[in-house]
Amino acid sequence: MEFSSSCIECAKPYPVIKRDELAEGDHIINAGTFYDDHAIVIKIEPDVRDRSNLQKARVVLIHATTYPLGISIGTIRQTVDYFDFKRCNIMIVKYFNRPFTSEEIIHRAKIQLGMPIIFPFMNSCEYFATHCVTNKIFSVQGRKWNMNLKIFFFHGLDGLSDEKLRNQVAHERELICKPCFERNNELFGVKKKAIRKEYDVHEGDIITFSYWKIHHDAIVMKVHENQTRNMKGVDLTFAHYAFCGPFISRTIIEERKTFPLDGSVIVNLYKSPQFNVYSPTETTARAKMRIGEQNFALFLNDSCNFARWCKLKPESLFPVNKSRFEKNVKNIAVNVIDT
Ligand SMILES: [Zn+2]
Repeated sequence: MEFSSSCIECAKPYPVIKRDELAEGDHIINAGTFYDDHAIVIKIEPDVRDRSNLQKARVVLIHATTYPLGISIGTIRQTVDYFDFKRCNIMIVKYFNRPFTSEEIIHRAKIQLGMPIIFPFMNSCEYFATHCVTNKIFSVQGRKWNMNLKIFFFHGLDGLSDEKLRNQVAHERELICKPCFERNNELFGVKKKAIRKEYDVHEGDIITFSYWKIHHDAIVMKVHENQTRNMKGVDLTFAHYAFCGPFISRTIIEERKTFPLDGSVIVNLYKSPQFNVYSPTETTARAKMRIGEQNFALFLNDSCNFARWCKLKPESLFPVNKSRFEKNVKNIAVNVIDT
């Protein structure tokens, strides 16, 4: 199966919290307040000032962004950056199929060093990075927005907040490829159980409930014992991407609340062997590591994406293409922009 440049799901951002999750040749996004910088990772090393800290790294990057606010004029440049994964919002773009090996991607980036930026002012850093990885030019976020505008137009807000419907519509309109459609169907069609008793929900579960009148997901951090026998509800501490007011960015926080036992709150039953999941302790630890993050992006890094990232291992989130490294695609002209 080829990488599909027309599929909006074949390239997906995935948050990174530790140095060893990054690899040389990866396409990364350093999400900023005003713009997102995309780059190719050339080298990763420990930060000499704090070697044993896996949350810090010295990273050599090649990218097309050279000026503040994402304006790209000039040439493709190599820079050295120091990342603190706890503070920076770094994401890897996971590709369903990378036609080049890591070494080839690095080579493709290096031979463009010093070349003029082809598309100033137009997502040039993203175009540069996607072209190094796939030999095609596209914007991950731009394509996703186009699809969502179409879904909003045909199905309104309900359509947008229902992941399964979004997936179906995207498939019908040929905006996603078959493996991505099938993988999403499995993820979004997971068995669900309505919470009617305290013991229906456990630490590390993904729960879905209505939040500001839309579907919202959270990780259960702790199920508190019912102190008063008459209390009709389940007392939970949960982690989620909270709405913190109109002028404050959405933030991942821990919150404690008593939920009703009327079946309105749902547990998503992600379990092995169908899904490769982290243990409850690992799941809550992953959630804790992202508390305070303000990198909300609707459909890319929202409450559902955060909850699944905590619970599910990458193998379950992305369709695996086993033939990826068996291919021997070489000698593809780097300067030809072949979309
Ligand atoms: Zn796809």
